[in-house]
Amino acid sequence: MSDITINGVRFHQQHRKCCRTCTHGPGGMGHGPYWYAFGIVGKTTYIGKELPALVAEHLDGLVARKDELAAKRAELVQQLDQLRTQVQHLDTLRRALDGLTDGGFIDTKALKELGLEAFSKVLKIL
Ligand SMILES: [Zn+2]
Repeated sequence: MSDITINGVRFHQQHRKCCRTCTHGPGGMGHGPYWYAFGIVGKTTYIGKELPALVAEHLDGLVARKDELAAKRAELVQQLDQLRTQVQHLDTLRRALDGLTDGGFIDTKALKELGLEAFSKVLKIL
């Protein structure tokens, strides 16, 4: 099995030699392979011959609920898009208000939406 990474912890299999003259394992690579966990802060933890059942359950869960996870992600992306559109819209309104008070460009459509269309009368004579 290749490397597995969960929450920033990498699980990796390695052979280990018990002494300098150890000839165990294929090609004298040493005993094992054994699983080790490499943490984010550089801490290495010996796991053993088998991965903890929780790791397998975690991976199985990722496979079994793949569609559900993808759907949840798509939903979040859609919500983010809606919020971005909302933010852009609110920023347009804010800019229109700033334009009104600073003498800058006035977005009449935005003024109307803000209930301030009375201020756009002067634009008609310009
Ligand atoms: Zn050995």
